[in-house]
Formats: sequence, structure tokens, C-alpha cells
Amino acid sequence: MSSAAEKSRRNSETAAPEDAGDVAVAAPKPTPRRNDSASLAKEIAEKLTYAIGKDPATARRHDWLEAVTLAVRDRIVDHWLASNSRNVQSGAKRVCYLSMEFLIGRLLRDAIINLGLSEAVRDALSAYDVDIDLLETLEPDAALGNGGLGRLAACFAESMASVGIQGFGYGIRYVHGFFRQEIVGGEQVELPENWLAHGNPWEFERRERSFEIGFGGKVTTIEEAGKPPRQVWRPAERILAVAYDTPVVGWKGTRVNTLRLWSAQALDPILLDAFNSGDHIGALLEANRAQSITQVLYPADSHLAGQELRLRQEFFFSSASLQDIIRHHLKRNGGDLSTLPDKVSIQLNDTHPAVSVAEMMRLLVDVHGLGWDESWDITKRVFSYTNHTLLPEALETWPVNLFERLLPRQMQIIYAINAQIIREATQKGLDGAKVSAISLIDEGSGRRVRMGSLAFVGSHAINGVSALHTELMKKTVFNQFHELYPERIQNKTNGVTPRRWLLECNPGLTDLVTEAIGPGFKDDITKISGIDKLADDAGFREKFMAVKLANKQRLAKTIEERLAITVDPTAMFDVQVKRIHEYKRQFLNLVETVALYDQIRSHPEIAWQPRVKIFAGKAAPSYANAKQIIHLANDVARVINADPSVQNLLKVVFLPNYNVSLAELIMPAADLSEQISTAGLEASGTGNMKFALNGALTIGTLDGANVEMLEHIGEDNIFIFGLTAAEVAARRAEGQSGREIIDASPILKGALDSISHGVFGEPGRYNNLVDNLYGNDWWMIAADFEAYWQTQRRLDALWQDSDAWGTKAVRNTARMAWFSSDRSIREYAKDIWDAPTSV
Ligand SMILES: *Cc1c(COP(=O)(O)O)cnc(C)c1O
Repeated sequence: MSSAAEKSRRNSETAAPEDAGDVAVAAPKPTPRRNDSASLAKEIAEKLTYAIGKDPATARRHDWLEAVTLAVRDRIVDHWLASNSRNVQSGAKRVCYLSMEFLIGRLLRDAIINLGLSEAVRDALSAYDVDIDLLETLEPDAALGNGGLGRLAACFAESMASVGIQGFGYGIRYVHGFFRQEIVGGEQVELPENWLAHGNPWEFERRERSFEIGFGGKVTTIEEAGKPPRQVWRPAERILAVAYDTPVVGWKGTRVNTLRLWSAQALDPILLDAFNSGDHIGALLEANRAQSITQVLYPADSHLAGQELRLRQEFFFSSASLQDIIRHHLKRNGGDLSTLPDKVSIQLNDTHPAVSVAEMMRLLVDVHGLGWDESWDITKRVFSYTNHTLLPEALETWPVNLFERLLPRQMQIIYAINAQIIREATQKGLDGAKVSAISLIDEGSGRRVRMGSLAFVGSHAINGVSALHTELMKKTVFNQFHELYPERIQNKTNGVTPRRWLLECNPGLTDLVTEAIGPGFKDDITKISGIDKLADDAGFREKFMAVKLANKQRLAKTIEERLAITVDPTAMFDVQVKRIHEYKRQFLNLVETVALYDQIRSHPEIAWQPRVKIFAGKAAPSYANAKQIIHLANDVARVINADPSVQNLLKVVFLPNYNVSLAELIMPAADLSEQISTAGLEASGTGNMKFALNGALTIGTLDGANVEMLEHIGEDNIFIFGLTAAEVAARRAEGQSGREIIDASPILKGALDSISHGVFGEPGRYNNLVDNLYGNDWWMIAADFEAYWQTQRRLDALWQDSDAWGTKAVRNTARMAWFSSDRSIREYAKDIWDAPTSV
């Protein structure tokens, strides 16, 4: 052997990795992970050993959870990288969903089911005598959202991956999500939530993906010879937005999309000069101030918090997302921004990211040098906006002076857009009052920027989230805009993902449906209608109700463990779980509960049906009436559960800390779903859909998506009562009080007297809630009580006929497929985004 060859051989044996390039050996490629249980078992042990540094013999349960998560995650990464390279090759349109909230919940079971790994993981862990069901409950519940709006974003993200859309979620990586609720002495106590305490194995920090975000400072005009003057924003404060990516696994793992959450960091982590001169606190102050932006989620739902930090959060994640979108587009499309609307759609989930409209204009005009008109055209074609509420207290506006101080250039741009919109309107012949209705600036009570109007004018499509809500939007908040731009408003009724809200949360029902009609409904939920014909089949119905009973037993066990309340799983489980809000009318349900309690005691001769009334939900910390409702629910539960005279007929349960995981336990166990909002006020609701899909009957008003559920499920299978939206509006306009109604109804009067006279807690404790009914009865609780009471009694009668009840329960599950978020997403893709599916 020549000495050179000898040297080369020695080198190849001993070469340090950095020398590897010199040697003619193909670079090793990672082997895609295999899905059999033996491979999984081996890899889980390897993760435990080499990633976590533990021995299987001494590992704690949390160590196992992390090891399983990492092993499953490897399989996601294989699909993720494949999806990403398909994205580059196809160049298909990207859909960017901007949402201040993603109420994700736990991810392990979601990933395991979507990847088809259930059996393999269970078998793999049995070799170590570890139970996957138990591990799954140890995962923290990622609560980066308040309620329906945030959960919708999470369902949509999963559906985009499942139907094959190149989807990108953009949001905020809150260090502390939605607060943890405890009930102490019957009252809500808010405790900090710390989902990142043990690290987060699902996210990948992308330090290289970071953008500068400015606040404050000045705008200067730059004049150069022969060029039009340019505006340059010089922010006084600059911070960094750093990306954290979480893979979003679609059904069967065919596509894995990305949820990109931004975290705020200081440009300089410490001011060394200050530190060295002894100011140790001051040296860190700036970093703390920067990081504070993404520390906490605002816990207000359907209500504007109105604090400066909130506006900072909104701009922070909007600007970071737009900079990222533009960077990506320029890189992939030869630096040409004119094609942006062909390649990207940006959906604004409510007005929280509405400042994006002004920021996009700034980036296009000031930073990338495009003309105003071209930029405005691009902006409108790129953006679309989803409205989520008509409640006046929730419509977002910001004081002009705050906006100007924090975002001076964006404020100038808003003025310029406003001038243009008003010009257009005047040309179309709108008069003074109508023009001020469409102005982006509310000149009424102190000058304020109207974020809904900004989102509207900057979008080519504006959608409501149920048919009724969309019609009301046209008549109320956006009435003038709708006259001016009649083609822009459209409806996209919400949906929920059937993977999480059926396959994952209700394995018993999933197996039963599979046994009856085969597994095809898992790929295409519309096939679940195949069980409709089995609703009259006694054998199937019995199995269906047996699954329900098993789910109720599971919930009863949790109620016993958490609250030491024993409930009978054969009683009707009558459930209202959702954010606590006056318009959702938990108070109406509680008044009916108290009335029922009184009637059971005074009329023992009537065949009352055993019920368990189950409540759960959080109140915004500053919302006094909502907190009173929680207090009342707990007071009512304490008194009724301790009264031996109603023991077998009525129990009341308030389960603390409602979140996605608790919802997954509760929905499959419900017999009756309470969707009783004051008509015209619930934009859609999605809790209503989850319940019905799992075979609960609905008692509800003609509100939000209930209206469409009635159409799909059929009037024999849903229990509708109460005033319509139009009747509510008329009563409110007349300013009718509830007094006459109360005086005419001994049952209602009796219940309200019990509540105010101290049967449930101190006398007078609930005067405020009760007095509102005698007053203008704003939420129509007195007005709807009688109809609600009668409908509940019809349900009692139905409950006695278990065959009839079972038939309706089956029909509910069979007929809810349309309310899948896959259907919603396909409609958005076709009508708003013009984006391909199945890519
Ligand atoms: C579905 C869901 C909601 C929304 O419920 P609504 O009844 O539509 O208000 C809120 N919170 C959680 C945790 C949910 O899963």
C-alpha cells in the first residue's frame, strides 16, 4: 500500500467529523422512523436514556411521558419535513391564519391518533408496564386562548392540515396562558398557569427566525432629488420577535403544517454599562420590559381589555408575522411583491390582528418602496377578516392618542386610508351621518380608532361565523359598509374537528360506529350519516346508550374524585360548560335549577326525573356579575346536594378549571346540552356542535349555529325555545321590564325569592343579579323563563321513554357531520382564499 493510500485509510478511520468532507463517503441520511411497536419500544427506551438521561428502572411517569412524546415527535418530523419540501416544490398558495389565541389543549393523543399509532404505542409501553392513558393525562393543557375563538383557531389549524392546505398559524407564545381556576368558599380564585414549567417538547425554537418590532419614536420625511418624498419610521423602542414552531399533524399524517408562535426578547439582554456601574436591577429592566409583551394572555373574552400592553401584543405578533410572510415570499418569488396575493392569503381571526392592515401598507410603501395604490390593492387582495361578535363592549377601539404614541406611522397610514374611504363613499353619494358611520375614527366619546372598520376596509372578504350572525352583521355593526360594499360580507359557519371531538375524546363511540358502518367515516366524516338508519334499530341504540353510560361513569368518577360528590350515572346529565357570561345565561339555568328544587319538594307526587346539573366555566377576573354567577352555582350546589329530600332526583355540580381536556371528558358524557344564550348574541358557538356530535340532545335558543343545527338535525331531535333575535331586539327597544312576568309566574317568583332571601348563602348576596330581572331584564331571563321551564319538562317526559331518547341521540350524532371544521375550511379555501386543497 502506498504511503498516501495508507494515510488516507488511517484518516478515514480516525477523521474528526469536521474532516469528513475530505473523504469520499456519502453523508449518512437519517432513517425515517418505523411505526411497529418493537421499533417504538426501542426508541422510547433510547429517548429515555439518551435524551432524558434516565434508566427505565428508575424513570418517573413524567420522564416516560417525555420519552414517548419525543419518539412520536420524530415521526411527526419525518412528515413535517416532507410537507415542507412539497410546499417548496408545488409553490401552492399559503394560507396564514393570524390569531391572538390558539386554545390547543394537549397534543400527544391528537398526534398518536392522527398518525395511526394508538395500538403500537400501547403495545410498546406495555413492555415497560407503563399505561399510555395515564401518561396522556400528565401532559399540560396548552391554554393559549380564552374560549371559542381560540379553540376555533386550533380546530382550523388541524383541519387545514387534514384537508391538505398549506396552512400557517401565527400567534403569540404566552408564557402564562389562561389562568387556572380554583373554587374557594364557593368563589372563583385565579391562579397563574405555568404550562412551560417542565419545558415543551412539541416546540422548536427558531432563533434564526427573528424580526425587530418597533414602538414609539418619530416619523421623518426623506426628500431625495427626483424621487417622491418617503416616510421613515424611527421607533424609540425596538424588541425582537423570536419564532417557536409547533408541528400541526393532519389526519393520517399526510400533511404536517406549522404553528409559529412569537416570543418577545430584548435586543440586548443586559445593559452591561449599567450593570458594571452597580445598577444591577436597571441593567435588566429593559429585557424585562421587552419580555413582558408575551408573558400573559389577557383573560377577557367578548370584552375589550383596553390596556396599552394589549395593543403592544397585537402589533407585536402582527408585525412579526407580516415580516415573516414577506421575507418568505421574496425568497421564493424572485423578489417580486406584486404576486403576493396570488401566493398568500392572510385570515384575520377577529380584530386582534387588524393593525396588520396598516402595518402591511407601511412595509409595502415605506420599506419595500411600492406605490400607495398598488400597495392598497395588494393589501385588500391578501387580507380577509372574520368577525366574532356583535356585543358593543367587545368591539375593539383604541384611543387615537395612545395609537399615535405607540404606532405613529401606522396612525398616519390609517388617516390616509380613512381619507380615501371617505372620498369613495362621498363619490357614491353617501351623506354626512352615513359617512361618519364608516369613518375609521370614532369622533364620539374621545377620538378612537375602530379596529373592526380597519379590518373591513383592508379585506376583500369579511365573514360572520353562522348564518344568523352574518345576517345580523349586515344589519348592525357593518350596516353602512355593507351598503357601500355589498359583495364583501359572506357567511362561514364554524365547525369543530371530528378527530379531537369524536375519535380522540370518545373512543367507545368511535369503535361502535366503526363496527356498524366501517371505518370510512374517519376519513370522511359525512359518512357518519350511515348510522342514521340504525336509530330505530333497538340493538344498535342499546349499544349506543351503553357507550354513553360508560362515558358518564367515567365523568362520575372524576366528579367524585375532585369534588367528593356522588352522582348517579343513570340520571340525566344536563350540562352547561362554557365561558361564564350574562349573555350565555348560566343564570337562567340556575334559576330553573332552584325552581326545580322547590317544585320537587312541594310536589313529591309528580314523576320527576333524576338529573345531574353540571356546570363549568371561567369568568373574566374583572367581570363581577359573571363571578357572582359562579358563586351562586356553587351555593346552589352546596345546599341542594346536602338536602336529603331531593337526593335521588337532583344534584348540582360545578367542575372547576374548565379547559380543553375537561371538555374532552365532559362532552361524551352529556345527555343534554344547554345552548341557551339570549338570541342574537352568540355568534355561532362550537360547544353546541361538540355535544351533539357525541349524541347529546340540545336545549337551546334560535341563536348562532343552533339555527343551522335545527335544520340538519331536524326539529324532532332538538329542543328549541324562547324569543327570537328579532323579538329580543324589539323587547329591548320597548324597554320592557321583567317585573310583570315575574309577578305572573309563581314558579319563577318563588325561585327568585329563594335566591334573594338567603336560602343559598347570605340574604342579599345575589340582589344585583335578581334586581336586573325586575329591571330591564336585559338578557331576557324573565322573558324566556316560562318557555325554558316547559321545554325542560318535555325533556323529563322524553327521558322516561329511553327508546325515544336513544333514537334522537343517535340521530344527533348521525346528522352533525356538516359541522366539521373540514367543511368550514374547504369553504374558506374555495370562497375566500382561492387556495388548493389536497396539496
Ligand atoms: C369548545 C370550547 C369552548 C367554546 O364553547 P361555547 O359553548 O361555544 O362557548 C370554550 N372553551 C373550551 C375549552 C372549548 O373546548
